[in-house]
Amino acid sequence: MLRRLRETMALQEGGEVKLARIVVDIAANMVAEVCSIYVRRRDESMELAATEGLNPEAVHNTHLARGEGLVGLVAMRAEAVNLPEAREHPSFSYRPETGEEVFHSFLGVPIQRQGRVIGVLTVQNRTQRHYMEEEVEALQIVAMVLAEMIASDQLGSAQAVSRSAGQVVRGVSLSDGVAHGHVVLHVPRVAVDTLIADDIEHETRRLADAIERLRATIDDMLSRGDVARAGEHRDVLEAYRMFAHDRGWIRRMNEAVATGLTAEAAVAKVQNDTRARVVNHTAPFLRERFNDLNDLSNRLLRMLTGRSTAVGEELPDDTVLVAHSMGPAELLDYDQEKIRALILEEGGHASHVAIVARALGVPAVGQADGILNRLDTSDPVVVDAEAGEVHVRPSPDIVSGYKDKERLKAQREARYAKIKNRAARTKDGVEIELHMNAGLLVDLPYLRETGAAGIGLFRTEFQFMIASTFPRPDEQQKMYAEVLDAVGDKPVVFRSLDIGGDKVLPYLRSSHEENPALGWRAIRMALDRPALLRTQFRALMRAAQGREVRVMLPMVSDVSEIQAARELIDKEVRHMVLHGYTLPKRLQLGVMIEVPALVWQLDRLFPLVDFVSVGSNDLLQFLFAADRTNLQVAQRFDPLSYPVLRVLDEIARKAREHEVPVTLCGEMAGSPIEAMALVGIGFRSISMAPSSIGPVKAMIRSLDSSTVEQLLKDALSAEIDDMRKHLEGFAAKYDVEI
Ligand code: PEP
Ligand code: MG
Repeated sequence: MLRRLRETMALQEGGEVKLARIVVDIAANMVAEVCSIYVRRRDESMELAATEGLNPEAVHNTHLARGEGLVGLVAMRAEAVNLPEAREHPSFSYRPETGEEVFHSFLGVPIQRQGRVIGVLTVQNRTQRHYMEEEVEALQIVAMVLAEMIASDQLGSAQAVSRSAGQVVRGVSLSDGVAHGHVVLHVPRVAVDTLIADDIEHETRRLADAIERLRATIDDMLSRGDVARAGEHRDVLEAYRMFAHDRGWIRRMNEAVATGLTAEAAVAKVQNDTRARVVNHTAPFLRERFNDLNDLSNRLLRMLTGRSTAVGEELPDDTVLVAHSMGPAELLDYDQEKIRALILEEGGHASHVAIVARALGVPAVGQADGILNRLDTSDPVVVDAEAGEVHVRPSPDIVSGYKDKERLKAQREARYAKIKNRAARTKDGVEIELHMNAGLLVDLPYLRETGAAGIGLFRTEFQFMIASTFPRPDEQQKMYAEVLDAVGDKPVVFRSLDIGGDKVLPYLRSSHEENPALGWRAIRMALDRPALLRTQFRALMRAAQGREVRVMLPMVSDVSEIQAARELIDKEVRHMVLHGYTLPKRLQLGVMIEVPALVWQLDRLFPLVDFVSVGSNDLLQFLFAADRTNLQVAQRFDPLSYPVLRVLDEIARKAREHEVPVTLCGEMAGSPIEAMALVGIGFRSISMAPSSIGPVKAMIRSLDSSTVEQLLKDALSAEIDDMRKHLEGFAAKYDVEI
């Protein structure tokens, strides 16, 4: 069958003719009355693109909506569906125009390329036939060849669909801004061009040779100085090495070569099969195993095709990075000068890559569902992160429209730059301190550029997250000294390490947790591993060289934890005195209010601290029991809602009573309308991403604090339902710039 396919592919005919021949060949070969090819269209429907056996009129006229019918089921599951009696299956969807009522058995396999289902290939018989395992295998191999034909433009009509211009993909804004540029795939696809082998023995040797080389590179990696030591890192690599010797995996690849595929096509086929099996499993063990195998397969593919990774590749000057997901360190690996925007299929607003993107001023859109299906390397793209939209291969009109938008944005920025040195004072003269959040040295210039009052939150864990091993004490000290030098007279609040939960250090051994957000993280880890916290305090106090130091503890749930942390600090202070170091002229200790339980300990908490800061990202996730990193739930609840404002009001009121400075440093501080509500409930200091300072300051300068305070007081006592709408109405009425 593969030989026949190759002959068809070599024909000097259009894509439609080739497709029509292919379905005839497959039907004959499989002894089936029907063979059809469905291709995924822009609207995610499956269109009948060619058929032998069904009504030819139905070609291009039958569309199955996403997930509809057995074809939709194959596409959704990305695996074969084999049924002797199709009509009995709950997913069966009868389309009279196809004339398929006379057929009983059905076998459908996904046509997929690099894990994306781009079509479905089916065969049907009049009898209640059960297709054998080998037949399913054979159809899968044909589907693979078809996938490459579609992707490499050999089938004009089908290809035209997935490459059509002018599509808009909607996601959510992770970091504001507008940009246009050209696509670079964060994980480049390795295209397999030659699928059908000329010489099976030669391919078997190529595969064996590549596996040999793969094993040698892993052995090399394991003997390298930095990983040769024992530890978690090494355990992971040892497991990885074991997979490279996995007999089942190697046997399956050899079997695929024996069917007539090239070595690279065999690797890709087994990779696709495994992916299809894992896709429907959520067991972490299986996923980890798959990730390892997937990575090994990619390495093998690169060896066999002679292609390298995107890492270190020459990037275009207007790179728009596209990825399924990305860690914060990975974004920083790229040359920042060249990154215009970032598009992710996953990624919530409070995810760390989003925070880093905002820090770098890189416009970013997240949750752009299926974007990897629609974009390829070098495609032109417009990213409108304000509207949360991606324009795929935009028309010249769209591009020029966006150039206007970029110009407008520049004008707005010029306006913010003008008020940069003016006070953040309301119309009735109330001063609001606007601080910025930071975590990396690249953030520091923003302090001057934005005119922020100081750094309200310095996320010290970022230095740890972007490193490949634990930063040494002297490295920590050096970083803190640079921060203190850069801020000059302005205050900076260093948050002690907030590791765990969604902030993972690849080199830190940690046991598997069912609920990492509720797990062994932040202050909990720090108190169990006091050396970690003491080293950090020591580095901070030494870096200060007599200057003031402000430290803040994350994820405190009980006041006793503050006492325990203070004892560690006191130990460090005694150590410094003993060794003759200059002590900071003042040490202020604060805590973050992120765990709801702390809200009912405020009267005991305030006397123990010099300041508090509300971490609304975590506080909201715990209040609503909605994982901030889970896209399905992260944005289900509105920060501008009665329960949130009620809690924040309580914190602000108690802080006033105890005369302890209070600030809020979660993402809500950076949204003008949310910041307006915070001023209304009495916050006089907030901390946000640098890019939010301008818009929030403009809002404050157009606001009357006593009016907004009255508004919030009334709204909270009336338990207003749609708080956001209510506040928007207020802003419109009083010309507040939100
Ligand atoms: C928060 O939780 O609101 C916060 C500021 O900390 P992080 O986002 O780093 O958890
Ligand atoms: Mg937090």
